Amino acid sequence: HAKKTGRNRHFWFEPQLEDELRLRNELESAIRRGIPAGEFVPFYEQQIDLATGELVGFEMLARWKSPRYGLVSPEVFIPIAEEIDLISDLSECLIRQALRDAGDWDASLTLSVNISPVQLRDPWFAQKLLHLLVESGFPAARLEIEITESCLHENIGAVRTIVSSLKNQGIRISLDDFGTGYSSLSQLRSLPFDRLKIDRSFVSDLAREGSTTELIEAIISLGKSLSLPVTAEGIENPDVLETLRAMGHLKGQGYLYGQPEDACATRKRLAELQLLRSLARGEILAKQ
Ligand code: C2E
Ligand code: MG
Ligand code: MG
Ligand code: MG
Repeated sequence: HAKKTGRNRHFWFEPQLEDELRLRNELESAIRRGIPAGEFVPFYEQQIDLATGELVGFEMLARWKSPRYGLVSPEVFIPIAEEIDLISDLSECLIRQALRDAGDWDASLTLSVNISPVQLRDPWFAQKLLHLLVESGFPAARLEIEITESCLHENIGAVRTIVSSLKNQGIRISLDDFGTGYSSLSQLRSLPFDRLKIDRSFVSDLAREGSTTELIEAIISLGKSLSLPVTAEGIENPDVLETLRAMGHLKGQGYLYGQPEDACATRKRLAELQLLRSLARGEILAKQ
């Protein structure tokens, strides 16, 4: 009887918990194996100057091409990689590929990469990044790193040191997911950021209610007072784009311009753009 009661008592959660633990362990070892196997690849999302409609650069977004789980989102594997202390290796492998890919793009285009708060605790982070730049020959002035606002309250001292040494090398720093964290005005003023990125939750709200309009306007004017240019992320439809355009000179990105694409598709996109530009200048027609 006791056995039966015991079983009944655990019936509702035990099997589920076991499954979750098993999946978690499997994911961990699959990530461990996947890094040297080259399963982690950079995808690229276009960044646009909203005033001119011109492509100004790409944000690298990590993807895991797992033979077992398919194309896996960074929202799944980044937190695990952070916990099992593999985020630095993973990031290094992704950034190395991205710098190589971006080396083939137009010299006017920038590359943005996301950096985890865990990496900012590594005292060698700046040196490692500079090493990757030297190794690739990619100009520091075209590289932008994105750190999330939540990094700031966690380890502001370390962030300050890293940010200034990267800035000294000419790398730019954006504050990502702005509006979701707790940065104070004095932190914003005292850290040499180059850009604020409005979190996409605010931008997508523009499509639904009028109430976030003022919030976004407030962020834009905050950016103005701090001399920080602003990017809006998560632009999904033309109405939102128009609203943002009316608010000031912004950069923007989002699925309206297309989903993030791999290196090959990105290269094709750039070649087509080049072709369109020559068409617009009459270079191709003139030859016929
Ligand atoms: P993030 O840096 O804020 O990147 C923007 C996320 O929003 C991306 O999701 C992108 O695909 C998605 N997104 C862009 N435009 C739209 C849109 O119009 N609508 C919607 N619904 N979503 C849009 P993704 O690629 O899943 O990345 C999620 C987060 O994972 C990123 O947020 C970033 O914080 C993190 N991440 C991605 N790659 C890396 C990496 O290499 N290292 C680290 N540490 N974090 C990364
Ligand atoms: Mg980002
Ligand atoms: Mg963001
Ligand atoms: Mg995000």
